[in-house]
Amino acid sequence: MDEKALSVENFTECRNASDEYFMREAMREASLAEAEDEVPIGAVAVKDGKIIARAYNTRERSRCATHHAEILAIERACASLGGWRLPGVTLYVTLEPCAMCAGAIINARIPRVVYGASDLRFGALGSLVDLSEIPFNHKPEVSRGILKEECADMLSSYFKRKRKQ
Ligand SMILES: [Zn+2]
Repeated sequence: MDEKALSVENFTECRNASDEYFMREAMREASLAEAEDEVPIGAVAVKDGKIIARAYNTRERSRCATHHAEILAIERACASLGGWRLPGVTLYVTLEPCAMCAGAIINARIPRVVYGASDLRFGALGSLVDLSEIPFNHKPEVSRGILKEECADMLSSYFKRKRKQ
């Protein structure tokens, strides 16, 4: 194997390991949502290897349709960086973003999104539509399916529990 191929491999391995690490942090946020009887969806925004914002879905508590984990994480990341653009930020979210959140990601010029489980009902980064493929002025790179089973299990066990209640 030549040196170049090796360094690409190292980069990929390194990126996969850090993607899993930050997805677990997003899952930690999702479990905070679950503890408050919210649908367990969590997100973290990462820049230069550091978490600059964390959030979870608070739709029930805040009685607000827009309080998805991604929107709250983007708001906090903007506050943290002091501007509406989020260059160099990767957003990790446990569930595929909906159309509203994918729109916010594009508006915030987030360069990369990593999500866990696919959302066959509302997913707008591949499942129902892929807004990252539409030629808007900004096109985020999307990585799909990181720890997808674990992310999906959190959601399905939440809904199972709710049905029993
Ligand atoms: Zn959303």
